Amino acid sequence: FEQLSTVDPEIAGVVLGELERLRGGLQLIASENLTSPAVLAALGSTLTNKYAEGYPGRRYYGGCAEVDRAEELGVARAKELFGAEHANLQPHSGASANLAAYAALVQPGDTVLAMDLPHGGHLTHGSRVNFSGRWFHPVGYTVRPDTETIDYDEVRDLARAHRPKLIICGATAYPRLIDFARFREIADEVGAYLMVDAAHFVGLVAGGAIPSPVPHADVVTATTHKVLRGPRGGMILCRESLAARIDKAVFPFTQGGPLMHAVAAKAVALREAAQPEFRTYAAQVVANARALADGLTAEGLRPVSGGTDTHLALLDLRETGVTGAQAEARCDAAGITLNKNAIPYDPQPPMVASGIRVGTPSVTTQGMREGEMRRIAALICRAVRTDPESPGGADDLARVAADVTELVSTFPAYPRG
Ligand code: PLP
Repeated sequence: FEQLSTVDPEIAGVVLGELERLRGGLQLIASENLTSPAVLAALGSTLTNKYAEGYPGRRYYGGCAEVDRAEELGVARAKELFGAEHANLQPHSGASANLAAYAALVQPGDTVLAMDLPHGGHLTHGSRVNFSGRWFHPVGYTVRPDTETIDYDEVRDLARAHRPKLIICGATAYPRLIDFARFREIADEVGAYLMVDAAHFVGLVAGGAIPSPVPHADVVTATTHKVLRGPRGGMILCRESLAARIDKAVFPFTQGGPLMHAVAAKAVALREAAQPEFRTYAAQVVANARALADGLTAEGLRPVSGGTDTHLALLDLRETGVTGAQAEARCDAAGITLNKNAIPYDPQPPMVASGIRVGTPSVTTQGMREGEMRRIAALICRAVRTDPESPGGADDLARVAADVTELVSTFPAYPRG
């Protein structure tokens, strides 16, 4: 860091500023986490220098013996941890992993059945502004209006009517468990591939806190930076029969040289995720999300679907008269980082939204437990209900911020020294 400060004090200032932001507030973005110093060390290593197009033992560049070892270790750890026949750690991100999975499984113009974005799906599941909606024919399934959970009968009916080549499950803002076996049955009935986008919850699977999609899916795509607590990046797990197609779809079809520092950091994270402590962590992430959802319910906010089985909860703010965008800004002013989020059947446009999404991966990494979740729920509600424009509003938000500072001082992110 001293070198960075000398060479580029401006960027050094950004790095320090971000560290202070992490230390000074509550990080409740469901898709974020706090990686370990070991993961950061691999990321900030000389492995970033190496070109290594290809795969271990089959590279288009010399000098790959060391990076080969990193990738082989990472792939072996991923296969072992998830009981997968094949793993590819080269996707630069979750979206890149999904692009490669589409490339391996379907042709442009083919029909793909996946969850609608406003109901919790991801951009890469058929949004018109994404390759998935532009190059493929997306059909979206929704959640039931009464239970706000996936309507498996609708999924089956849509599959029968549209005969998709690919069915996708896994979402960005869905707090409940997904019945992978049910999706498998539907895919088999119509002769479709089943891809599970486990970006959000693959870390919970690694820690044994929720059931694994691996036995049911043809392909599982994931990010490595969410609950899994690795570097920003992607990963694909698949059956051996699809291994060559997946590997070719990642390189050379959709990517060039792999980011070997990131691949090595993924290997480190996978090793960490295989330790007994990570199982304790994953179980606590879920217990904390439940406690947070219960606490928010007690404070008068309604969790979509009534609660959560995972690391995240989605809150419907309509009864408070506060929009998602306002809630996000108010929480931000109080040192609570979360995101506005569309809720199913949302009357508001996405940039306004009627909901917020909260997740527990980061605060659980910091060592917080159920008691702290109840305090966080109260802090969120105070912030959400405080209009900064109202008389005394700004002072009230400052008081919430002071209480946030006090709470996080006992559970520091990246403790000093
Ligand atoms: N798939 C799902 C379900 C996601 O939630 C996300 C990101 O949040 C992605 C894919 C994309 O991951 P990335 O941002 O790494 O491209």
